[in-house]
Amino acid sequence: MAKPKVAFFDFASCEGCQLSAIDLAPEQMLDLLNVVDIVEFREAISEKAAKYDIALIEGSITRDCDVPRLQDIRNRSKVLVAFGACAHTGGINALKNFQKKEDYQKAVYPTDPLKYETTVTRAISEVVQVDAFIPGCPINTMEFVRIVKNLVLGKRPDIPDYSVCVECKKNENICVYEKGMHCLGPVIRAGCDAKCPSNGGYCYGCRGTVTKPNLHAQKDVMQKYNLTFDQMTDQFKLFLQRNREVFKNAG
Ligand code: SF4
Ligand code: SF4
Ligand code: SF4
Repeated sequence: MAKPKVAFFDFASCEGCQLSAIDLAPEQMLDLLNVVDIVEFREAISEKAAKYDIALIEGSITRDCDVPRLQDIRNRSKVLVAFGACAHTGGINALKNFQKKEDYQKAVYPTDPLKYETTVTRAISEVVQVDAFIPGCPINTMEFVRIVKNLVLGKRPDIPDYSVCVECKKNENICVYEKGMHCLGPVIRAGCDAKCPSNGGYCYGCRGTVTKPNLHAQKDVMQKYNLTFDQMTDQFKLFLQRNREVFKNAG
């Protein structure tokens, strides 16, 4: 029986999530290729296909001219997956949404600011229907293979829907708030094994929020450490574009 056809596409992104997919450990790659055929993947092969069982979309939409291309991929795909934070939440491309268009145009192309088209950054789900997402900046390769296998079997993607704090506490870390830092762990989706707080950093939200963020927990943390909504949002703009409401409601 033919294996499901998988294709990769990119929009505004650093292509790091696609590189992570190319750079799978040999056993992960075998695991993946046992269940799917990769029929289109600009970074890895020159073949193309007309239809896809699963289309993995990396990157966000930052130009109106990208919309028809994305819609065309959507029309040719049975299942469309937002692949990585840029696609899932807008990612770091959405930083520009906090600024005036003329300001970032001038900052990036000072001699010819109108040379390239640019619009407000949108996540893929803000433009077409998205059936699943693979969070993270970049994606976690084990999770990527697991989710593709889930989709092939017609199952719901197996992604944690509890907060990074759960994994952080399991790792017996001292909470970074106790060290005078701030962290988005209470409302961000686990699945990275609390990578940043476990390695001397803090969670800045690359995996997006859980489905029902615990606003009470976030509010308690903000109150305990005398933080305002503006202080939290200023520090966490990197991946915060679509999460601002969480803090607004908690504040
Ligand atoms: S999510 Fe991160 S690693 Fe992936 S394409 Fe976007 S910026 Fe690059
Ligand atoms: S707030 Fe951050 S550092 Fe503190 S427990 Fe949660 S994830 Fe860990
Ligand atoms: S701890 Fe937060 S920022 Fe770091 S990888 Fe996990 S979700 Fe992303």
